[in-house]
Amino acid sequence: MLCSQISMAPEQLWHEVLTRLEYRLTRPTFETWVKPTQAKALTEHMLVLEAPNLFACNWLQKHYLQPIGEVIIEILGHPLELQITTAQGEMRDQSWHLEGSLLAGNERNDDPQRPTETPFNRKYIFSRFVVGANNRMAHAAALAVAESPGREFNPLFLCGGVGLGKTHLMQAIGNYRLEIEPQTQVFYVSTEKFTNDLITAIRQDSMEEFREHYRAADVLMIDDIQFIEGKEYTQEEFFYTFNTLHESGKQVVLAADRPPNQIPRLQERLCSRFSMGLIADVQAPDFETRMAILEKKADDENVRLPRAVKEYLATHYTSNIRELEGALIRTIAYTSISGLPMAVEHIAPMLNPPVEKVAATPEAILGAIATLFDVSIELLKSNSRRREISLARQVGMYLMRQHTNLSLPRIGEEFGGKDHTTVLYSCDKIAQLRQKDTKLNQTLIQLSDRITVSRPHPYSSS
Ligand code: ADP
Ligand code: MG
Repeated sequence: MLCSQISMAPEQLWHEVLTRLEYRLTRPTFETWVKPTQAKALTEHMLVLEAPNLFACNWLQKHYLQPIGEVIIEILGHPLELQITTAQGEMRDQSWHLEGSLLAGNERNDDPQRPTETPFNRKYIFSRFVVGANNRMAHAAALAVAESPGREFNPLFLCGGVGLGKTHLMQAIGNYRLEIEPQTQVFYVSTEKFTNDLITAIRQDSMEEFREHYRAADVLMIDDIQFIEGKEYTQEEFFYTFNTLHESGKQVVLAADRPPNQIPRLQERLCSRFSMGLIADVQAPDFETRMAILEKKADDENVRLPRAVKEYLATHYTSNIRELEGALIRTIAYTSISGLPMAVEHIAPMLNPPVEKVAATPEAILGAIATLFDVSIELLKSNSRRREISLARQVGMYLMRQHTNLSLPRIGEEFGGKDHTTVLYSCDKIAQLRQKDTKLNQTLIQLSDRITVSRPHPYSSS
């Protein structure tokens, strides 16, 4: 059906929708799902929206059509059909009619009975979590779980290196859940605590209480679950707890420093349970995200950071956000106590970070790829389309794009004169592949480490 254009521009209508929705939805919900969505077209009967990715597109469709639809009725006086697509052009094949009969939205909970204190750390909330390419999926999944536990992603398994925000996200789920629904039983424990509780229960002959306690959870979150390795009895007990909760639609969230299939001495049946929901990884933040984190934390402390200081911190603390944060806190403390201006020349000797990573060279990248994939550099530069060779070549182009400042045509030259469109295609392909393929992702992390050479930084005193 062809529809005539209506007088309002799509962006104008959407802007109005956003303004009103901002008051109806909680902040994380608004910021994560609704705000990044753009209006693409508007006819008399339909508004076409574009979500940043398929995940957000699905989530919007499932949970936020109603509030969006209601606000549209408020503005226009009549409903519109909504169609949500993604920036990549993936479109869902259905469209929905909004007549107020869809899933309930997440209105703000203004319950005066809400307890003011929760067992969770108030520092770790969604709005204090900086989202970047490194953690977008994990953040979205955690928020999804916080909004509707026990549905889509059960269990949610968060994995990734130390200091990259796993505990922050779990705590944020807890804080959010209790804010929305103060009566929910949300448990967060370390694997160590779970194990100790179990040992105590066995010793005191109170297994019944132990089981009752853990199985009463609406949301059970266990942190650093990799420590369960080799603990046969804890694994056994946890298996039953897990099943009981899962079968009754209760949410389980786990975090570990690696994916389930890489935890040694983990019972096969637990490994498969852990993998049946969603495994979302957090990676080291890129430069922009590190800068954004510093900005946010400095803002929280009411401190203005000169750009050079921010850059200094962001280039020297790259792989662990806790360390980045620690360095910032020491910087703030040092300058306020010493009275020195906040400048790199003063803080660098005080911080004395051990090493600095320098940009990789094309030669180092070609060499590392050739070794790892066991193909010669000549073949990488050749036109061979053998699968293993073209994969190695694509990974190489991707790494060169990430770790050098060479232009696309220059990268093409490094690979024997390939076209810049080929380079671009390869980079996109590997970027997408690493999202799904944990093994490839690990390989890329290792390679990145190997090709960025370390050297002592210029202010180092030693
Ligand atoms: P993990 O559990 O993965 O080891 P944490 O969740 O304890 O890491 O995070 C370490 C520190 O870094 C915490 O203070 C946390 O608030 C902070 N942090 C981690 N990721 C982010 C982020 N994306 N935005 C803001 N702060 C973060
Ligand atoms: Mg942790």
